[in-house]
Amino acid sequence: MTKENEIEHRGAYLILGKPELPNSIEIGRRFDLDSDKVWISNQRESKIPVPTSTDKAYTVMLSKDDEGWSFENHGQSGSTSLNGFLSEEKRLRDGDLLKIGGTVFHFLEGIGVLSGIYDQLFRATRLDLQTGAYNKAHFNASLEDWINLSKRHKQSLSLIILDIDHFGKVNTNYGHMGGDAAIKQVVDRIHKRARKGDVFCRIGNGEEFALILPETPKENAVLLAEIIRQEIAEEPCPYEDRLISITVSIGVGEYMEGLAKDDFVKSVDSRMYEAKNAGRNKVVA
Ligand code: GH3
Ligand code: MG
Ligand code: MG
Repeated sequence: MTKENEIEHRGAYLILGKPELPNSIEIGRRFDLDSDKVWISNQRESKIPVPTSTDKAYTVMLSKDDEGWSFENHGQSGSTSLNGFLSEEKRLRDGDLLKIGGTVFHFLEGIGVLSGIYDQLFRATRLDLQTGAYNKAHFNASLEDWINLSKRHKQSLSLIILDIDHFGKVNTNYGHMGGDAAIKQVVDRIHKRARKGDVFCRIGNGEEFALILPETPKENAVLLAEIIRQEIAEEPCPYEDRLISITVSIGVGEYMEGLAKDDFVKSVDSRMYEAKNAGRNKVVA
């Protein structure tokens, strides 16, 4: 999420790209190293995930002492290299390229020109600049990665799709600026509700959003969807000296093995339309 990218912190860490999974290239994504030990892994809840399409275990520990940062490979031996040379553990220096599986990380100490360029690149390619949610390209790439991961690790994966009800009327009644303000407030509320690993994206034509929920079974996704629906319906959005009442219709689904990505999205989308047909301001799972 955007807020993470705005925090100034010494020891920034950037993903350059993930050649193993062409869809998931996240050029310029920054991970702040804000504790003395940080895990990069495809095996466990780690601060820095490494999505992969193989069965290999990628787990690297970054640790900090008085002299700075080091890395240590805790995954499959031979799966890490530093500046092009196979390496299992070493001290990291500013500008080092650490490769874990197919993913290259650029280790940068402190915030400088290069990290500023990466931030811009990431924002331009992956974020919807109007709302701060991820964009549709990121949605497609991220959903594909999470489907691959959930198949591999037999973890549950849920998806929420949400569309603002009668949004055309909001524009008619409050003007386009009012509509924009309402969308932004809806997005901010959902960001507050989402967990760190959830991926919230703006998809479709403006007032349609998706929330990817890794490691989440359908029951929990439904609970979250219901909380989001209620919060938005119960608290109108302040705009100038007026209050804009908003409701949303939500579809929820859990990924079932064998389902193609687009069919998964379609099935959740059709539940969202069922919620519309059932009178709007509803969750259908
Ligand atoms: P429904 O309940 O069936 O979803 O009705 P709706 O009016 O929301 O449906 P529809 O998708 O036909 O209309 C959405 C409208 O939202 C049309 C478009 O002008 C408006 N819209 C989309 N993106 C934005 C935006 O960023 N800002 C503003 N102000 N309006 C937007
Ligand atoms: Mg709508
Ligand atoms: Mg719509």
